[in-house]
Amino acid sequence: MRISNFIGGEFVAPKSGAYFPDINPATAQPIADVPDSDAADVDAAVAAAKNAFPVWSRTTAEERSRILLRLADLIEQNLDDLARIESRDNGKPLSLARALDIPRAVANFRFFATAILHHASAAHITDTTALNYTLRQPLGVAGLISPWNLPLYLLSWKIAPAIASGNTCVAKPSELTPLTADRLAQLSLEAGVPAGVMNIVHGYGAKAGAALVEHRDVPMISFTGGTVTGARVAASAAPMFKKLSLELGGKNPTVVFADADLNDAIRTSLRSAFWNQGEICLCGSRVFVERSIYDQFVDAFTEGAKKLKIGDPSDESTQVGALISEAHLHKVLGYIELAKEEGGTIVAGGSRVDRDGYFVEPTVITGLGCDRRVLQEEIFGPVVTITPFDHEEEAVAFANSTRYGLSASLWTRDLKRAHRVAAAIDSGTVWINCWLLRDLRVPFGGAKDSGVGREGGFESLEFFTEAKNVCVKLG
Ligand code: NAD
Repeated sequence: MRISNFIGGEFVAPKSGAYFPDINPATAQPIADVPDSDAADVDAAVAAAKNAFPVWSRTTAEERSRILLRLADLIEQNLDDLARIESRDNGKPLSLARALDIPRAVANFRFFATAILHHASAAHITDTTALNYTLRQPLGVAGLISPWNLPLYLLSWKIAPAIASGNTCVAKPSELTPLTADRLAQLSLEAGVPAGVMNIVHGYGAKAGAALVEHRDVPMISFTGGTVTGARVAASAAPMFKKLSLELGGKNPTVVFADADLNDAIRTSLRSAFWNQGEICLCGSRVFVERSIYDQFVDAFTEGAKKLKIGDPSDESTQVGALISEAHLHKVLGYIELAKEEGGTIVAGGSRVDRDGYFVEPTVITGLGCDRRVLQEEIFGPVVTITPFDHEEEAVAFANSTRYGLSASLWTRDLKRAHRVAAAIDSGTVWINCWLLRDLRVPFGGAKDSGVGREGGFESLEFFTEAKNVCVKLG
């Protein structure tokens, strides 16, 4: 199978004629040829998007909404097909793609399709002198760059608000998981998205991604990916004064106090550690447990981790699939070795699974302090540390002890403490007695090195439009 770029409503080959293989992580076998696009392809896509902008930006919100709702319906009608594609492309369990990735992509299109119908803009009356109102206008061509871990979900999180608010876009999905984006392009034609409104250029980040960030005719970049890449994107976008949203890495704490509902805390923190093989930016990879329940927690958590079923992602009972690539597999195994060198104890997992593909056992590590590299650096795999704490201040200090600040999950029945600790943790999201619950109206993003700006709900509509103040003299 060979996929193409999607430019101006047509599927086209990369100008260079070059392709690279897309590998199924669960078999280590190639499943598709992917365009190795370069600046010339990005140029063509930006030109198509620029061309489509005048008409699309003047299309009524009602009509844009209707088209995007049709696209949401089509994704939903093709849910099973898309989930299978995503599972093969990414290595994640099919059941997870069906329950999480694809339904959330549907929700993204539905939410932004309807949000534009209800988005109000402010008016300020200056006594009897003047009326100021805020005109929100789309900016033009949005550059959208997304990672491989939740491919369609995160791509649609950007495409939906960008085009709903009247921009056109050029999206560059991860080179490791291009297949659902390709299917989305086909569905967009069926839904009636006009040619040039949504363009997709496949290829490597350093080539196609960088060309998109550097393109003069792309005034805004929404990027989700690693912190190191985010810094590079920021460095090239800043001198061109582009609007920039960066959703970056995480090293998220799960903090369990002794008064928590322990069964719920263990069940949910197992999910938050190992769902999607730990490859969700919001996964809780550092677990901190109050000392009085530490042993009990470690025993139950370890037992739960050992019971998780690893295997063929297409098997309905599989809970842990394959890591995304061979390079990532070696990175994750390297951190497990490092944990041993740093003096940690592996109490569950710790090894590669003996089968084709890139499988690593759910791994639980104890005995490491917060300053160890394993607790400081994002591993982005099924590897979690558990560390005891003695009091609330220490729990907060441990939670805040990394450069990251994406999300946190707190477990306690003490209402006052829950609010106090939530306010003290430096992160964009704090979940109390839960994890990964989502309301599309809330601002989403990271603190510290986990990102700049907020997306989600009306925040995304504001990112993808520019506010203009219009001042009218009264009288
Ligand atoms: P990555 O940074 O390697 O790549 C992300 C995207 O950027 C890909 O499409 C890639 O091709 C592109 N890219 C790479 N170099 C580029 C460059 N120089 N210029 C422009 N684009 C470039 O990240 P990844 O490995 O695909 O994804 C994993 C990372 O993403 C993890 O760090 C994870 O925490 C993070 N992530 C964050 C969020 C969030 O919402 N904060 C969500 C999901 C994933």
